[in-house]
Order: sequence, then C-alpha cells, then structure tokens
Amino acid sequence: MARGKKKDNIQSNHESRVTSHESIAIVGGGISGLTTAFYIKQYNPEIRITLFEKESELGGKMKTIQKDGFLIEEGSNGFLSNKPDTLELVKLSHCEDILLKSSDNARKRFIYDRKLEVLPESPKAFLTTPLLSLKGKLRVLYEPFAPAKTDDSDESLQEFGYRRVGKEMTDVFLDAMVAGIYASTPKSISAPAAFPLVVKLEKEYGSLFKGMIKKKKKEAGPGGVLMSFKGGVSTFIEKLSQNLDIDIIKDADIKTLQKDEKGFILQNENLKMRFDKVILSTPAYESAKILKEFMPELSNELADIEYSPISIVGVGYNTLSHPLKGFGLLATTRAKKSVLGVLWDSSIFRDRAKEDKKLLRAMIGGQRSPELALQDEETLINTALKGIKDTMGIDEKPDTFYVKRHDKGIPNYAVGHIKRVEKIMSLADKIEGLYLNSNAYKGIGLNDCVSNSKLCAKKVAGV
Ligand SMILES: Cc1cc2nc3c(=O)[nH]c(=O)nc-3n(C[C@H](O)[C@H](O)[C@H](O)COP(=O)(O)OP(=O)(O)OC[C@H]3O[C@@H](n4cnc5c(N)ncnc54)[C@H](O)[C@@H]3O)c2cc1C
Repeated sequence: MARGKKKDNIQSNHESRVTSHESIAIVGGGISGLTTAFYIKQYNPEIRITLFEKESELGGKMKTIQKDGFLIEEGSNGFLSNKPDTLELVKLSHCEDILLKSSDNARKRFIYDRKLEVLPESPKAFLTTPLLSLKGKLRVLYEPFAPAKTDDSDESLQEFGYRRVGKEMTDVFLDAMVAGIYASTPKSISAPAAFPLVVKLEKEYGSLFKGMIKKKKKEAGPGGVLMSFKGGVSTFIEKLSQNLDIDIIKDADIKTLQKDEKGFILQNENLKMRFDKVILSTPAYESAKILKEFMPELSNELADIEYSPISIVGVGYNTLSHPLKGFGLLATTRAKKSVLGVLWDSSIFRDRAKEDKKLLRAMIGGQRSPELALQDEETLINTALKGIKDTMGIDEKPDTFYVKRHDKGIPNYAVGHIKRVEKIMSLADKIEGLYLNSNAYKGIGLNDCVSNSKLCAKKVAGV
C-alpha cells in the first residue's frame, strides 16, 4: 500500500529509520517514476523507496478529467499492444481487469491534406489513394533502389524521408505521423532518435521495403492494437500507485540535489532528506534545475533538450450528427489548418462519453506552430472549433469544453539528440547512485517509458 505523506516533514531525514536496507528516492510521479518504483520493488522488496511528486496528483502526462459525462485525457490516450512490457506491467500490478481494448470501429484513420482522406493501409489502397500523385507513388516504389546511407551521422526525418521515399510521401505521411506522435515536424526531429527501428532497417537491409519484408513487418510499422483503461489512464495510475509499498510525498517540488560522504540530499523549502540513491524521473528541464549547483555541466546539457508546447482541447457534444466512424485525423503542415489533428475519442474508447454523447480531442501547436499552443483558454477553444470545422465540416455547437495547455509538453528529439543523451548519461554515470530516467532520453511513448523504467530498475537494484 502506498503510504501518503504530507510535506510537513521539514528537515526530516531517513537516518532515523535507516536499517541495513538501501534507501532510494525517485523524483517525479509520472509513468516513468512509478514504473521504476514498481520494478525495483519486484526485484528487491527490501529496498525502501520514497517518491516525490511536485503536483497534488500522480500521473504526470497521464491524467483523466471527468466533466459533464465525458472522460477527457489531458495527455496520453493509451499504448499499443505490440510491445510486451506495458502489458506485463499491467498484469504484474493486477490491473488486467481495467484494461480496455480500442473499438474495432475505430481502425480507420484519416489524413487531411487537401481534404479528408482515409489513410491507406494495404498496398491496393496505397496505389489508389488520392493523397499522393502518380509521381509520388512511383517515387515510393523506387525506395528499394534508392542508395542507402553509408555513415552513422545523424539526420532529420525530412532528410531521411526525402532520400528514401521522396518529398511527397514525406510531406504528407511522415509529416502527419510525426505531428501525431511527437508534436514535431520532419525538419525538426532526428530520424535515428525518434524512429530507431525504421532507420535500423535501412542500415541492415539497405532498404525499408526489403527490411520489412524480411522481418515480416514485425518491428517496423506501428502495428498492435491501441489499449487503454476503463475510466481513463488515471484509473491505472491510481491502481498502480495503490499497490506500491513505498512512501509517496505529493506537493513536493524538489529544488536541489547535493551529495556528501553519507549520501544524497534532496531538498526544498519544506523538506531535506537523505538517500543512498536518487533517480530523477523528471522532465529534462526540471532535472537541469535540480542539478544546477551539484553538476553544472550535466545541468547545461539537460537544459538543451527542447520541449514542444502542445494544447489539448476536449470538445463534447450531447448530440452530434457526424457518425465519427474511425480513429480520428491528422493534418499535414501544408494543409495549413489550426489543429495538428483531431482524435475521435468516444469512438476509440466507448466509455469516454456517456450514452449517445460524442467526444473529440483537438491537438494544437507542437513544433509546427508553437504560438498556437500557448494561446489563452478561450482562443484555444476557438482555434479547436475552427480546426474541427475546417477538417471535418462540423459546425454544430458543442456542450462541453476542457482545455489542457502543456507549455512544455513533449521532448523534441532534435538532430544531435542521441549524442547529447550519450553525453548526459556518461556525466550522470560518474556519480555512483545517480540515475536519470524519463521520456526525455530514449523514447516518449508509454511503451518506451515502461521498458526504459524496467531497465533503470534493474540497474538500480543490481539485477
Ligand atoms: C498531449 C500528449 C499526448 C500523448 N499521447 C500519448 C499516447 O497516446 N500514447 C503514448 O504512448 N504516449 C503519449 N504521450 C507521451 C506520454 O504520455 C509521455 O511520454 C509519458 O507519460 C511521460 O512520462 P514520464 O513519467 O517520463 O514524464 P511525466 O509524465 O512528465 O512525469 C514527470 C513527473 O515529474 C513531476 N515533477 C517535475 N518536476 C518535479 C520536481 N522538481 N519535483 C517533484 N516532481 C517533479 C511532474 O509533475 C510529473 O508528474 C502523450 C504526451 C502528451 C503531452
């Protein structure tokens, strides 16, 4: 059972409670921090863990809001079932009963380029899609003959895409996809950092098509089924944290980390506590602040990881004539729409809207247009409604709105990210007992966060 504590433990420290067992602090109660705590306990139940969370609730980017009969996700919607680690975590934490598979009616995805078109998912559909010209399609088919890159230098997704599948495919499909996953653009993201498995195909097989055929499409495509939780992702966070036998201190905004001969000291204006090991599961810019005095060089590198702002506007309709048959849409940059995309949440997971109500979630901003994400709440609602009307033709008056602004929403893995992360990890490794683990480094999807947290827990527990 999680043992909640208030932040009134000024100057308290663990020395009074120290037995022979190690004490570990985890800063950050998002999925990375919670999963790391979970697996450390699996590997060694004797280790004492204290988790500090800045907010009054756990979950970080995984939070569900209940409003007027709608369940609105502030961030992540779910995870794909094609990687085993999240499903394993769900099972081990006894959360299988709340697992929710996305609806089969929501398999169709749409892209808005000149108008709304179905995303082709078979070779036949690709050959007939109006999303690419004949020239664009022929260029994609030329991919196996395009010369492979021979060195290991980093490059943007745009450079990678133009080389392999041509400009049109990149400007339409890769552009929409990278907006949907990373809130980024092909130009501002590193191909090897953001899509390592795809880049590996070129390296190993000389071509993406050849690689996919040889690997029977196992690793390369998105694949899998989207999974979430009954009642939204917050239900999982709640259940996972309740099953953790650790101390959880909420409303604890950790300001500094120091080290002396007895161990690490975490501190803010209300508390000062000592630990044998510390894991920072915070966004890179927060870790940079915490480490500013203790490790300035590491702090500077962390501060250089940029974040894309993204805002989510939940739009609920008590009645809506549009059937919403599908998953939702992503818009291309060249379509010049005010939204990055619109997710048809009540079609994806039926419990997101009661009875016949319908719920959309518009995504706004990202690297494409950061200024749009940072608008005030009312302007964001108008921006969302304009985007919904322009892309889906819906002009009906909604009944409910919910706005969540993530001013620093998603780390942007820019060109140079892999080298920067290598440097960050080698600087952190110099301090025995210090670990960095969050979505800032080696993957932002829930599946990546869970896999990386499991690896981190193994390292910490020494298994
Ligand atoms: C809008 C949006 C939609 C997304 N959709 C999906 C999706 O559908 N599928 C998917 O797989 N992924 C999705 N993601 C990505 C995924 O949700 C995140 O990468 C993941 O949740 C990050 O988890 P984390 O624990 O690494 O970081 P965070 O969730 O950011 O957690 C960090 C925690 O640290 C706390 N903290 C920060 N500073 C301090 C401090 N000084 N002291 C104490 N605590 C501190 C924060 O309050 C926070 O709780 C989405 C992300 C966003 C923003």
